[in-house]
Amino acid sequence: MLISQSSRFAELQSRIHGQVVTEGDEAWASSRQSFNVLHEQRPAAVVRVANADDVAETIRYAAQRGLRIAPQSTGHNAVPIDSLEDALLVRTDALQEVRIDVGARRARVGSGVRWADVADPASEAGLAPLAGSSRTVGVTGYSLGGGMGWLARKHGLQTNALTAVELVTADGELRRIDHDNETDLFWAIRGGGGNYGVVTALEFELFEAPEVYAGALFFPYERAAEVMHTWHELVAAGLPDEITTVARVYNFPPLPELPEFLAGKSFTVVQAAYLGNERDGADLLSPVMELGPDMNTFGMVDPAALGHLAMDPPDPVPYASSARLVSNPTAATIDAFVGAAGPGSGSQLVSVELRSMGGALARRSPGAGARATLAGDYAMFAVGVVMSPDAYGEVLGQAEGVSKALTPWDAGTRYANFEEKSVDTRLFYDEDTFRLLRALRTEWDPSGLFLANHEI
Ligand SMILES: Cc1cc2nc3c(=O)[nH]c(=O)nc-3n(C[C@H](O)[C@H](O)[C@H](O)COP(=O)(O)OP(=O)(O)OC[C@H]3O[C@@H](n4cnc5c(N)ncnc54)[C@H](O)[C@@H]3O)c2cc1C
Repeated sequence: MLISQSSRFAELQSRIHGQVVTEGDEAWASSRQSFNVLHEQRPAAVVRVANADDVAETIRYAAQRGLRIAPQSTGHNAVPIDSLEDALLVRTDALQEVRIDVGARRARVGSGVRWADVADPASEAGLAPLAGSSRTVGVTGYSLGGGMGWLARKHGLQTNALTAVELVTADGELRRIDHDNETDLFWAIRGGGGNYGVVTALEFELFEAPEVYAGALFFPYERAAEVMHTWHELVAAGLPDEITTVARVYNFPPLPELPEFLAGKSFTVVQAAYLGNERDGADLLSPVMELGPDMNTFGMVDPAALGHLAMDPPDPVPYASSARLVSNPTAATIDAFVGAAGPGSGSQLVSVELRSMGGALARRSPGAGARATLAGDYAMFAVGVVMSPDAYGEVLGQAEGVSKALTPWDAGTRYANFEEKSVDTRLFYDEDTFRLLRALRTEWDPSGLFLANHEI
C-alpha cells in the first residue's frame, strides 16, 4: 500500500482552502483524470483550488521551490503535456460560477465550468455561446485555444468573443485583463492558451439564437462516396455564413451505453446548424436531402440542442486521434477521404469528419486576439476508440492514415484545440504572431513557470 505524499505538501495545504492531492490519497486517481483514459497524468501533486487566492498561493509556493504549474480545468487535452514530474497540476474544476446577463448578452463563468452549464441557461433566454460539439468540454481550454463550434462560420472563434479574462500571473497577482487593461496579455491569451497564467474566470459574448434549424441526415455507410461528394459540391458552391455543415463517417463500437440504433452500426452522416428558419434551411441542404437519407432528424431546436448533434462521448474514453486543416479541396480530396475512412478502407475509426470552415473564421474581427482567424476550408478530425491497450498503435495508424491521405491539401497550419499530441507550436501561428507570443511569454513568465498543453 502506498503511503500518502501529503506531508511533503503540508505547508501548501495549510495555506489554501482547496485540497492538495498526492499519490496514496483517495482522490489521487479522480483528481488527475484525463479525458483520454489511456493517458495517465503523474504530477508531483494535484492542487484542487477553491478560489483565486488559492491559485496565487500555489503559484508563489511553486515559484519558490522550482516546481512548475500546469493549469487544467477538465483534462480534455491533457495528452500533449510531456511530463508533469516536477509540476503541480492546478485543477480549477471547483470554480463553477455561472452568471448570464441576458440584457447585455454576456456570460461570466468560473474557469472550471463545462459548456453545458452555460449553453443550457443561455438557451432558455434565447441566447447561444460559441460552444463546440461537446457539452462536457471545458470553457477555459476551448476558449484559450480558439474554439470552433456550430456557429463559427457566422460568429467566428470563441476566443474572439471573450470580453475579459481573470488570471493569476507568474508574479502571483490576480489580474483582470480586457480590451482596455493589459491589452498585450489579453491579445496573447486569446489563442496562446495556458502559457500566461492560471485563469480563474472568463467573460464572453452570447449570441441571439432563439431557435436553430439543425439535425443530421443518416445514410448507409456504403453510400459514403456519393454523399460526401454531394456535400462537398454543395459547400464548394458557396453556402451562407449562417450555416455550418459537417460530413462524416461513423463506426459506432458495440457498446451497451450507446442507443440500440447506433451500437455496432456504421453510417455516413451530414449534420448542420443553420441560424434561420426551417424552409430556408431545408432549401439550402436540398441537394443532400434529395439523396434520400434513411433517417432525417432536422427540425427547429433550442441552441442548447447543438451540444448533442455530433454525439460526442460525454465521459472519458480510451482513444487515439489525428487532425488536419484542409485548403482548396477538390473531388480528389473527397476520394482520398473516402479511400482512407470509407467502405473498403478497413477503418474502424468511430468518427472521421470534415467540418466546413470559412465565413467568419477567415475574417479578422476588430480587436481580435492571437488566434484571429483559422485557415482552411475543412477541418478533418479522425478518432478511434481503443478497445484494448494493444490496439492503440493500429487505431492511431488508421487516424493518421486519413490525415496523411489529405496531405496534398494541407492548409499549412494546425489548430491547437484539435491537436492531441505534442506538436511544434510554431505550426499553429504565422511567424509574426509566434514571435510576439514568445516575447510576451518571456515578459509575463520569465522563468517558464507555466506548463501548458501546447507550450510557446
Ligand atoms: C469530445 C471532444 C470534443 C471537442 N470538440 C471541439 C470543438 O467542437 N471545437 C473545438 O474548437 N475544440 C473541440 N475540442 C477540443 C477542445 O477544445 C480542447 O480539448 C480544449 O483544450 C479542452 O479544454 P479543457 O479546458 O476542457 O481541457 P484541459 O485539458 O483542462 O485544458 C487544456 C489546456 O487549456 C489550458 N487551460 C485549461 N484550464 C486552464 C486554466 N484554468 N488556466 C489556464 N489555462 C488553462 C491549459 O493549457 C491546458 O493544458 C473537443 C475535444 C473533445 C475531447
